[in-house]
Order: sequence, then C-alpha cells, then structure tokens
Amino acid sequence: ATPGRKTPGQGGIRVVARFRPVNADETAHDGAVCVDFPSDSSAELAIGKRTQSFSFARVFPPHTSQAGVYDSVGAPLLDPLFSGVNVAVVAYGQTGAGKTHTMWGAPAAPDAAGIIPRLLAEVFDRSAADALPDGTTATLSASYIEIYREVVHDLLAPRESAPKAGLRLVTGTTGVVVPDGATSRSVAAIDDIMSLMDEGNSRRSVAAHKQNAQSSRSHAVFILNLTLHNAHDASTTSSGLYLVDLAGSEKVSKTEVAGLQLQEAKTINKSLLALGNVIAALSSSARKGGKGGKRHVPYRDSKLTRLLSACFGGNSLTTLIICCSSAAYNATETLSTLRFGDRSA
Ligand code: ADP
Ligand code: MG
Repeated sequence: ATPGRKTPGQGGIRVVARFRPVNADETAHDGAVCVDFPSDSSAELAIGKRTQSFSFARVFPPHTSQAGVYDSVGAPLLDPLFSGVNVAVVAYGQTGAGKTHTMWGAPAAPDAAGIIPRLLAEVFDRSAADALPDGTTATLSASYIEIYREVVHDLLAPRESAPKAGLRLVTGTTGVVVPDGATSRSVAAIDDIMSLMDEGNSRRSVAAHKQNAQSSRSHAVFILNLTLHNAHDASTTSSGLYLVDLAGSEKVSKTEVAGLQLQEAKTINKSLLALGNVIAALSSSARKGGKGGKRHVPYRDSKLTRLLSACFGGNSLTTLIICCSSAAYNATETLSTLRFGDRSA
C-alpha cells in the first residue's frame, strides 16, 4: 500500500477497513492480536516475522463503536442520496469477520444498531413532508435480493413461484440495471424495513458449511429506491441506496466440500473476484485522471457487479468496508482480506 496515493473520499469509491475484537474462539487459541494501528488510516499486520502495512481512507480499530462507523461511512451518504446520486455500502470479509454486525448489528438496541438501521432511520426522517423543501414529496420503495451461485433470487417472494433460473438482470429505462420482476415494496417507516428484512432473511439460501454461520454463502443486496417529486416544475429525481452483505470471502478447501458445495464455492469466488476487478479498474482510471487512462470495467463478469453497476463510476458513491479479525489466529485470512481491499483502494 502506498499511503496518500488517493485522497480519501474523493473518488466514487472509498475503501475503509474495520477490525473486530478477538472473540472467544480466538481467545481459546491464545488470543494474541496481530494488528497495530499507527494512524486512523493505516493498519500494520504482523504475520510470522513480517509486518505489512496497509492504508485505507479510514481504519476502524476493534474498539470503534457502531455510531463511530456510521458517522464516517453512513452519514456522508445522505446528502448525495437526496440529490440524486446512487450510493452503496458493501461489506467484505471472511465469515465471522463482522460484516453483518457492521451492516445490521442488533437493530433494536440503540448502541448496537449497524449502518443500515441508522441510515434508513435518517432517510425516513429526511423524507417526512416537513423535512423536505416546500412542494417536494418523497416516495420510498425497497427490494431485497440474494445472489446465490450466480442466480438472483427475490427474497420478498415465495421461492415456489419464482423462475428456477432466477431473476434476469435488465437495463431499465433510466439506464440502471434492475432485477426483472423483483418485488418492490413501498416503505414508510423503519418498522416496514425490519419486517421486510425478517421475511427476506427467512428465505435465504443456507448450506451446511464448516464455518456454519447462517447465510454466509450468498450475497444479500438490499435496495432502497428514493424518488423526489417536485410539484412546482413537475420534475422527479431518483436515486438508489444499495446495502450489500457479501458472502464470506474465505477459501473453501477441497477436502471440506465436494460436488454441489464446491460448485457453490467457485461461483461465490467468481462474484467476489469480479467485484475486486471492477473496483480495481475504476480506481486505476481515477488515478490516471479519467481521460486517456480509461480501462475496461468488467461489470458483466458477475451478477453482483452488474446489479451494482449503477453505484460504480459516474453519478455514484460506493464505500467498501473491509471487515477483519484482529486475532493472530486468523492472520492469514486477514492478510488476504486486506490485500483485496488494497487492490481496490
Ligand atoms: P459475518 O457477518 O462477517 O460472518 P458477524 O457480523 O456475524 O460476521 O460477526 C460474527 C460475530 O462477531 C457476531 O457474534 C458479532 O456480534 C461479533 N462481532 C463482529 N464484529 C464485532 C465488533 N466490531 N464488536 C463486537 N462484536 C463483533
Ligand atoms: Mg454475516
């Protein structure tokens, strides 16, 4: 990592890293910590006798509160979202690294709520009639999608009635890629989101897996569509908020899985690999100043990158949160996670 090669938060893509505290399982394996935090934008990983330094737009050490992460990652997205910019928050990391904690947390507990409940509560507040400029009204609708083995599922519709091959991704009238026929629910309050989430999560694909965290093998994409109608000039502004809890990034060893599950592992890696390639291509073009330095951006390489294409480049803002353990016991996985983030930074 080369510190300062890109001004944090300037481009369309911002990469941050969050380290969770050592857990009980890691404590049982001596509990040693393998990361140091020399500044709020760098982390030093000690692996064996070597120390490697990584820099990101922000680094959140293990003691960082949910509110602290929200203030840095979530809150800055509100103004752009309400001015018509597509925004995304994407959590990447191995199973157990803190992706779901970071995105959802414990939504009902004020201190433990993650980025999604905090962000959506603000979106609803700002959408209230008295919070909007005179003559402006907001319409909000939500979809909840799962990508499992490169098949797109609508989590808000019964699986029995769904097309076996999954939903097709199509380019809509506004040029944004949408899952064709996905349920879009009108939402007016955070409670609507919570019940929709519960419903969707009960339909997620789960495969028995050694690390066996629920739903760790599929990508979950929550999409909130915001439309602002201006009664004075009859104009509308639309934007999308994409909140993504990715499948675990861990390598699956061949002795652990075979047949269906090996296929599953390959397709999960395909989407994550494509995501890394897309972000790396965009960051590299941004560094070269756009003109002349434009690289081919391989959006079409996976369902995930196609679905998120509205959030990359152009009128958009994406934050990738690299989630890691701080324990020496998981240092090898942490190294590969940080390298993924570093390619994208
Ligand atoms: P993932 O979704 O990446 O598989 P989780 O978010 O489910 O991982 O986290 C695994 C466990 O670690 C959960 O019990 C979660 O509450 C806990 N955890 C994760 N991150 C933190 C953190 N920053 N502080 C405290 N506990 C955490
Ligand atoms: Mg999870």
